[in-house]
Amino acid sequence: MPWTERQRAMLGAMGIAVWAPAAARRDENAGALAAPAPAESSKQPVQLDTRAARAAPLAGDARSTRDVEIAALDWPQLRERVAACRACRLCEGRTQTVFGVGNQQAHCMIVGEAPGENEDLQGEPFVGAAGQLLDRMLQAIGLTRASAEPAQQVYIANTLKCRPPRNRNPEPDELALCSAYLRRQIQLVQPRLLLAMGRFAVQTLLDSSEPIGRLRGRVHRVGGRPVVVTYHPAYLLRNPADKARAWADLCLAAEQLDR
Ligand code: URA
Repeated sequence: MPWTERQRAMLGAMGIAVWAPAAARRDENAGALAAPAPAESSKQPVQLDTRAARAAPLAGDARSTRDVEIAALDWPQLRERVAACRACRLCEGRTQTVFGVGNQQAHCMIVGEAPGENEDLQGEPFVGAAGQLLDRMLQAIGLTRASAEPAQQVYIANTLKCRPPRNRNPEPDELALCSAYLRRQIQLVQPRLLLAMGRFAVQTLLDSSEPIGRLRGRVHRVGGRPVVVTYHPAYLLRNPADKARAWADLCLAAEQLDR
């Protein structure tokens, strides 16, 4: 697939080097460059209704009394409830909860993992190095966290609203308790597309512990809503070779949003 100048600029913004065969490089002035073929193509997304997705906690109705209460909250009530939450041990170490940011009517909702140190201090998701990469990734498909119309401005939320100590992985009970908040955020935003970043977002949204590499490259559904799975930006910072796959995932997400 030849890359346009704009796409090459976007790839550059994500830090993806565009590979071209020697002949094409020689021919650069003539235009078309060959791109690295991602191992898994973003073309022809498969509409996948996995068993895991059907059983997803976020797809079904709220279950416990607490879930039912949370499912009835409006935005200000939900924000207050999260800020006062003491449902799990993570409340003990937090500076503050990290609720979520963005357009409450966003077409695209990003789901990350959990606040880190910077997020815990600033009260906003993805403000550290991973957040900067996320911003560049969003920019690459014409999206932003800055104020814009719902088609361009995303809503960003994490599966956990409190920072785990020393950024350890979320525990299953923490994910389960916090999922009611994320579920309500999704119900309120009603995004056209969920972009799940990293294994804990995937675990929460799709109720699947399959590796990202097996789930990405196709469109999943939760409660009828399309979900695209990709690598977490923090993982991409450590494994830049997978940025080409993340780029294919973003293209798949953009394609879904354009429908
Ligand atoms: N990683 C996440 O998943 N979320 C954040 O808010 C920050 C880093």
